[in-house]
Amino acid sequence: MLKPIYRGGLLLPELGLWFDPQKRKPFAIVSHAHGDHVGRHECFIATPETIALIRVRNGNALADRGVALAFGETYQGKGYRLRFYPAGHVLGSAMAHIETDAGETFLYTGDFKTRSGLSAERIEIPQAETLVMETTFGKPDFVFPPFAETCEQVHAFCDRVLGADQTPVLLAYSLGKAQEVLKIVEERSQQLMVHRVIGELNQVYESFGIQMPKTRPLDFLNMRGCVVVMPPTVLKKLPRKDCQVAMVSGWGMNESAKYRYGVDEVIPLSDHADYPDLLKFVAAVAPKAVYTTHGSEREFAATLRQLGYAAWSLSKDDQLEFLL
Ligand SMILES: [Zn+2]
Repeated sequence: MLKPIYRGGLLLPELGLWFDPQKRKPFAIVSHAHGDHVGRHECFIATPETIALIRVRNGNALADRGVALAFGETYQGKGYRLRFYPAGHVLGSAMAHIETDAGETFLYTGDFKTRSGLSAERIEIPQAETLVMETTFGKPDFVFPPFAETCEQVHAFCDRVLGADQTPVLLAYSLGKAQEVLKIVEERSQQLMVHRVIGELNQVYESFGIQMPKTRPLDFLNMRGCVVVMPPTVLKKLPRKDCQVAMVSGWGMNESAKYRYGVDEVIPLSDHADYPDLLKFVAAVAPKAVYTTHGSEREFAATLRQLGYAAWSLSKDDQLEFLL
Protein backbone atom coordinates (compact mmCIF):
# COMPACT_ATOMS: atom_id res chain seq x y z
CA MET A 1 0.00 0.00 0.00
CA LEU A 2 1.07 3.59 -0.62
CA LYS A 3 2.74 5.18 2.39
CA PRO A 4 2.41 8.97 2.56
CA ILE A 5 4.74 11.13 4.63
CA TYR A 6 4.47 14.74 5.80
CA ARG A 7 7.24 17.18 4.77
CA GLY A 8 5.62 20.62 5.02
CA GLY A 9 2.95 19.18 2.72
CA LEU A 10 2.01 15.65 1.88
CA LEU A 11 4.38 13.49 -0.18
CA LEU A 12 3.78 10.13 -1.82
CA PRO A 13 7.43 9.05 -2.17
CA GLU A 14 6.61 6.06 -4.41
CA LEU A 15 5.20 8.43 -7.06
CA GLY A 16 7.20 11.57 -6.18
CA LEU A 17 3.87 13.41 -5.84
CA TRP A 18 3.32 16.43 -3.59
CA PHE A 19 -0.08 17.53 -2.27
CA ASP A 20 -0.52 21.11 -1.00
CA PRO A 21 3.15 21.75 -0.13
CA GLN A 22 3.91 25.25 1.16
CA LYS A 23 7.38 25.39 -0.38
CA ARG A 24 7.89 25.75 -4.10
CA LYS A 25 8.09 22.41 -5.95
CA PRO A 26 8.63 21.57 -9.62
CA PHE A 27 5.17 19.95 -9.65
CA ALA A 28 2.40 19.71 -7.06
CA ILE A 29 -1.30 19.02 -6.66
CA VAL A 30 -3.19 21.95 -5.10
CA SER A 31 -6.50 20.97 -3.48
CA HIS A 32 -8.01 24.46 -3.14
CA ALA A 33 -7.20 28.16 -3.13
CA HIS A 34 -6.87 28.89 0.63
CA GLY A 35 -3.45 30.39 1.33
CA ASP A 36 -2.15 27.58 3.54
CA HIS A 37 -2.57 25.12 0.64
CA VAL A 38 -1.02 27.18 -2.14
CA GLY A 39 2.73 27.37 -2.80
CA ARG A 40 4.47 29.18 -5.66
CA HIS A 41 5.19 26.03 -7.65
CA GLU A 42 6.83 25.83 -11.06
CA CYS A 43 3.82 23.83 -12.22
CA PHE A 44 0.70 22.68 -10.38
CA ILE A 45 -2.52 20.86 -11.10
CA ALA A 46 -5.84 22.10 -9.72
CA THR A 47 -9.47 22.52 -10.72
CA PRO A 48 -10.31 25.38 -13.13
CA GLU A 49 -12.21 27.07 -10.25
CA THR A 50 -9.16 26.92 -7.97
CA ILE A 51 -6.88 28.32 -10.69
CA ALA A 52 -9.34 31.21 -11.26
CA LEU A 53 -9.39 31.96 -7.51
CA ILE A 54 -5.57 31.78 -7.36
CA ARG A 55 -5.48 34.28 -10.24
CA VAL A 56 -7.40 36.79 -8.09
CA ARG A 57 -5.62 36.04 -4.83
CA ASN A 58 -2.06 35.29 -5.98
CA GLY A 59 -1.76 36.90 -9.42
CA ASN A 60 -1.36 35.86 -13.05
CA ALA A 61 2.24 34.67 -12.80
CA LEU A 62 1.30 31.80 -10.49
CA ALA A 63 -2.12 31.08 -12.02
CA ASP A 64 -0.53 30.75 -15.48
CA ARG A 65 1.54 27.84 -14.17
CA GLY A 66 -1.63 25.93 -13.26
CA VAL A 67 -2.79 22.92 -15.26
CA ALA A 68 -6.58 22.62 -15.05
CA LEU A 69 -8.19 19.27 -14.26
CA ALA A 70 -11.99 19.46 -14.06
CA PHE A 71 -14.11 17.21 -11.86
CA GLY A 72 -14.80 13.98 -13.74
CA GLU A 73 -11.67 14.19 -15.90
CA THR A 74 -8.59 11.96 -15.58
CA TYR A 75 -4.97 13.11 -15.56
CA GLN A 76 -2.52 10.43 -16.68
CA GLY A 77 0.70 10.74 -14.70
CA LYS A 78 3.80 8.53 -14.68
CA GLY A 79 2.57 5.32 -13.08
CA TYR A 80 -0.78 6.71 -11.86
CA ARG A 81 -4.10 8.27 -12.80
CA LEU A 82 -5.43 11.28 -10.90
CA ARG A 83 -9.06 12.35 -10.58
CA PHE A 84 -10.56 15.21 -8.57
CA TYR A 85 -13.75 14.80 -6.55
CA PRO A 86 -15.61 17.80 -5.04
CA ALA A 87 -14.59 18.32 -1.39
CA GLY A 88 -17.54 20.60 -0.53
CA HIS A 89 -15.23 23.04 1.29
CA VAL A 90 -15.13 26.13 -0.99
CA LEU A 91 -15.67 26.68 -4.73
CA GLY A 92 -13.41 24.31 -6.67
CA SER A 93 -12.06 22.50 -3.61
CA ALA A 94 -11.03 18.99 -4.59
CA MET A 95 -10.13 15.67 -3.06
CA ALA A 96 -7.36 14.00 -5.06
CA HIS A 97 -7.92 10.34 -5.90
CA ILE A 98 -4.95 8.36 -7.21
CA GLU A 99 -4.97 4.95 -8.79
CA THR A 100 -1.54 3.48 -9.51
CA ASP A 101 -0.73 1.23 -12.45
CA ALA A 102 -0.49 -1.57 -9.86
CA GLY A 103 -4.14 -0.93 -8.92
CA GLU A 104 -3.49 0.69 -5.53
CA THR A 105 -5.90 3.49 -4.56
CA PHE A 106 -5.28 6.58 -2.47
CA LEU A 107 -7.39 9.59 -1.45
CA TYR A 108 -6.16 12.95 -0.14
CA THR A 109 -9.02 15.08 1.14
CA GLY A 110 -7.50 18.54 1.51
CA ASP A 111 -10.08 20.50 3.54
CA PHE A 112 -13.61 19.16 3.23
CA LYS A 113 -17.13 19.28 4.59
CA THR A 114 -19.95 16.82 4.02
CA ARG A 115 -23.00 19.04 4.61
CA SER A 116 -24.41 20.74 1.49
CA GLY A 117 -23.13 24.30 1.39
CA LEU A 118 -24.80 27.22 -0.38
CA SER A 119 -21.78 28.20 -2.46
CA ALA A 120 -19.53 25.13 -2.87
CA GLU A 121 -20.04 21.98 -4.94
CA ARG A 122 -21.65 19.10 -3.05
CA ILE A 123 -19.05 16.60 -1.82
CA GLU A 124 -18.66 13.29 -3.69
CA ILE A 125 -16.91 10.55 -1.74
CA PRO A 126 -14.94 7.86 -3.59
CA GLN A 127 -13.55 4.73 -1.93
CA ALA A 128 -9.80 4.22 -1.45
CA GLU A 129 -7.41 1.81 0.29
CA THR A 130 -5.25 4.57 1.76
CA LEU A 131 -6.86 7.75 3.07
CA VAL A 132 -5.19 10.99 4.14
CA MET A 133 -7.78 13.26 5.76
CA GLU A 134 -7.92 16.60 7.53
CA THR A 135 -9.24 16.42 11.09
CA THR A 136 -9.60 20.08 12.07
CA PHE A 137 -12.64 19.26 14.25
CA GLY A 138 -11.63 15.72 15.24
CA LYS A 139 -12.70 15.80 18.89
CA PRO A 140 -16.10 14.55 20.14
CA ASP A 141 -17.16 17.96 21.47
CA PHE A 142 -17.08 19.41 17.94
CA VAL A 143 -20.69 18.89 16.89
CA PHE A 144 -22.14 21.77 14.87
CA PRO A 145 -25.79 22.76 15.24
CA PRO A 146 -28.11 22.09 12.26
CA PHE A 147 -27.48 24.48 9.37
CA ALA A 148 -31.04 25.90 9.53
CA GLU A 149 -30.49 26.83 13.17
CA THR A 150 -27.27 28.67 12.27
CA CYS A 151 -29.07 30.60 9.50
CA GLU A 152 -31.73 31.63 12.03
CA GLN A 153 -28.98 32.84 14.34
CA VAL A 154 -27.51 35.00 11.56
CA HIS A 155 -30.92 36.58 10.88
CA ALA A 156 -31.71 37.03 14.58
CA PHE A 157 -28.39 38.83 15.03
CA CYS A 158 -29.08 41.16 12.07
CA ASP A 159 -32.67 41.86 13.27
CA ARG A 160 -31.56 42.59 16.81
CA VAL A 161 -28.76 44.96 15.80
CA LEU A 162 -30.80 46.78 13.15
CA GLY A 163 -33.66 47.02 15.67
CA ALA A 164 -31.29 48.88 17.99
CA ASP A 165 -30.54 51.29 15.10
CA GLN A 166 -27.03 49.90 14.70
CA THR A 167 -25.19 48.15 11.87
CA PRO A 168 -24.71 44.36 11.93
CA VAL A 169 -21.19 43.35 10.84
CA LEU A 170 -20.57 39.69 10.00
CA LEU A 171 -16.93 38.59 10.04
CA ALA A 172 -16.27 35.80 7.56
CA TYR A 173 -13.12 34.61 5.75
CA SER A 174 -13.13 36.13 2.29
CA LEU A 175 -12.96 32.87 0.32
CA GLY A 176 -15.81 30.46 0.95
CA LYS A 177 -17.30 31.57 4.24
CA ALA A 178 -18.15 35.08 3.01
CA GLN A 179 -19.99 33.71 -0.03
CA GLU A 180 -22.03 31.31 2.11
CA VAL A 181 -22.90 34.11 4.56
CA LEU A 182 -23.96 36.33 1.64
CA LYS A 183 -26.22 33.53 0.34
CA ILE A 184 -27.79 33.31 3.82
CA VAL A 185 -28.57 37.03 3.98
CA GLU A 186 -29.33 37.63 0.27
CA GLU A 187 -33.11 37.66 0.76
CA ARG A 188 -32.98 40.41 3.37
CA SER A 189 -34.32 43.83 2.48
CA GLN A 190 -31.19 45.71 3.61
CA GLN A 191 -28.36 46.52 1.22
CA LEU A 192 -25.35 44.23 1.53
CA MET A 193 -21.94 45.82 1.89
CA VAL A 194 -18.75 43.78 1.38
CA HIS A 195 -15.02 44.29 1.59
CA ARG A 196 -13.27 44.69 -1.79
CA VAL A 197 -11.56 41.28 -1.61
CA ILE A 198 -14.90 39.54 -1.09
CA GLY A 199 -16.38 41.44 -4.05
CA GLU A 200 -13.53 40.26 -6.30
CA LEU A 201 -13.92 36.64 -5.24
CA ASN A 202 -17.70 36.88 -5.74
CA GLN A 203 -17.03 37.61 -9.41
CA VAL A 204 -15.14 34.30 -9.72
CA TYR A 205 -18.08 32.49 -8.11
CA GLU A 206 -20.41 34.20 -10.59
CA SER A 207 -18.20 33.18 -13.53
CA PHE A 208 -18.67 29.54 -12.49
CA GLY A 209 -22.45 29.87 -12.33
CA ILE A 210 -22.97 30.55 -8.62
CA GLN A 211 -25.23 33.57 -8.40
CA MET A 212 -24.14 36.03 -5.76
CA PRO A 213 -26.33 38.84 -4.40
CA LYS A 214 -25.81 42.44 -5.40
CA THR A 215 -23.44 44.19 -2.99
CA ARG A 216 -21.96 47.63 -2.35
CA PRO A 217 -18.27 48.24 -1.59
CA LEU A 218 -17.45 48.58 2.11
CA ASP A 219 -17.59 52.17 3.29
CA PHE A 220 -17.13 52.70 7.03
CA LEU A 221 -18.73 56.14 6.84
CA ASN A 222 -21.96 55.01 5.19
CA MET A 223 -22.84 51.65 6.73
CA ARG A 224 -26.09 52.72 8.33
CA GLY A 225 -29.03 50.49 7.37
CA CYS A 226 -26.74 47.93 5.64
CA VAL A 227 -25.66 44.41 6.55
CA VAL A 228 -21.86 44.30 6.35
CA VAL A 229 -19.77 41.22 5.50
CA MET A 230 -16.00 41.56 5.82
CA PRO A 231 -12.94 39.41 6.68
CA PRO A 232 -11.79 39.26 10.33
CA THR A 233 -8.49 40.93 9.41
CA VAL A 234 -10.32 44.23 8.83
CA LEU A 235 -11.85 44.29 12.32
CA LYS A 236 -9.14 46.50 13.82
CA LYS A 237 -9.98 49.24 11.29
CA LEU A 238 -13.73 49.12 11.97
CA PRO A 239 -15.12 52.10 13.92
CA ARG A 240 -17.04 50.15 16.56
CA LYS A 241 -19.45 52.95 17.44
CA ASP A 242 -23.00 52.21 16.20
CA CYS A 243 -22.29 48.67 15.06
CA GLN A 244 -22.18 45.16 16.51
CA VAL A 245 -19.94 42.40 15.28
CA ALA A 246 -20.52 38.66 14.91
CA MET A 247 -17.72 36.24 14.03
CA VAL A 248 -18.96 33.44 11.77
CA SER A 249 -16.69 30.47 12.40
CA GLY A 250 -16.65 26.79 13.31
CA TRP A 251 -14.66 27.83 16.36
CA GLY A 252 -17.71 29.84 17.46
CA MET A 253 -19.46 26.92 19.14
CA ASN A 254 -17.99 27.94 22.44
CA GLU A 255 -19.45 31.19 23.81
CA SER A 256 -16.06 32.12 25.24
CA ALA A 257 -14.81 32.50 21.64
CA LYS A 258 -16.42 35.95 21.52
CA TYR A 259 -13.97 37.22 24.11
CA ARG A 260 -11.08 35.65 22.22
CA TYR A 261 -12.16 37.33 18.96
CA GLY A 262 -13.20 40.57 20.66
CA VAL A 263 -16.70 40.48 19.11
CA ASP A 264 -20.29 40.77 20.35
CA GLU A 265 -21.46 37.36 19.17
CA VAL A 266 -20.08 34.17 17.61
CA ILE A 267 -22.06 32.13 15.09
CA PRO A 268 -20.94 28.53 14.54
CA LEU A 269 -20.76 27.94 10.79
CA SER A 270 -17.87 25.97 9.36
CA ASP A 271 -16.41 24.97 5.99
CA HIS A 272 -15.03 21.83 7.65
CA ALA A 273 -16.68 18.57 8.69
CA ASP A 274 -17.53 18.21 12.38
CA TYR A 275 -16.69 15.13 14.44
CA PRO A 276 -19.75 12.97 13.54
CA ASP A 277 -19.31 13.88 9.85
CA LEU A 278 -15.62 12.95 9.96
CA LEU A 279 -16.56 9.50 11.26
CA LYS A 280 -19.26 9.03 8.59
CA PHE A 281 -16.78 10.14 5.96
CA VAL A 282 -14.24 7.47 6.93
CA ALA A 283 -16.96 4.80 6.82
CA ALA A 284 -17.92 5.92 3.29
CA VAL A 285 -14.32 5.79 2.00
CA ALA A 286 -13.87 2.32 3.60
CA PRO A 287 -10.06 2.57 3.76
CA LYS A 288 -7.54 -0.05 4.91
CA ALA A 289 -5.24 2.64 6.33
CA VAL A 290 -5.97 6.19 7.48
CA TYR A 291 -3.52 9.05 8.07
CA THR A 292 -4.84 12.15 9.83
CA THR A 293 -3.55 15.70 9.51
CA HIS A 294 -4.39 19.20 10.87
CA GLY A 295 -6.14 20.04 14.14
CA SER A 296 -6.99 17.09 16.37
CA GLU A 297 -5.08 14.63 14.24
CA ARG A 298 -3.64 12.56 17.03
CA GLU A 299 -6.91 12.31 18.96
CA PHE A 300 -8.89 11.41 15.87
CA ALA A 301 -6.38 8.73 14.81
CA ALA A 302 -6.74 7.20 18.30
CA THR A 303 -10.53 7.25 17.92
CA LEU A 304 -10.25 5.46 14.59
CA ARG A 305 -7.95 2.81 16.08
CA GLN A 306 -10.55 2.14 18.78
CA LEU A 307 -13.05 1.60 15.96
CA GLY A 308 -10.74 -0.98 14.38
CA TYR A 309 -9.09 1.09 11.66
CA ALA A 310 -5.34 1.13 11.07
CA ALA A 311 -4.87 4.86 11.68
CA TRP A 312 -2.01 7.24 12.44
CA SER A 313 -1.51 10.97 12.61
CA LEU A 314 0.88 12.21 9.95
CA SER A 315 2.92 14.79 11.79
CA LYS A 316 2.77 13.64 15.42
CA ASP A 317 4.65 10.79 16.97
CA ASP A 318 1.87 8.29 17.64
CA GLN A 319 3.22 5.56 15.38
CA LEU A 320 5.23 4.28 18.35
CA GLU A 321 2.11 4.44 20.52
CA PHE A 322 0.38 2.25 17.96
CA LEU A 323 3.11 -0.37 18.14
CA LEU A 324 3.11 -0.48 21.96
ZN1 LIG B 1 -9.33 25.53 3.31
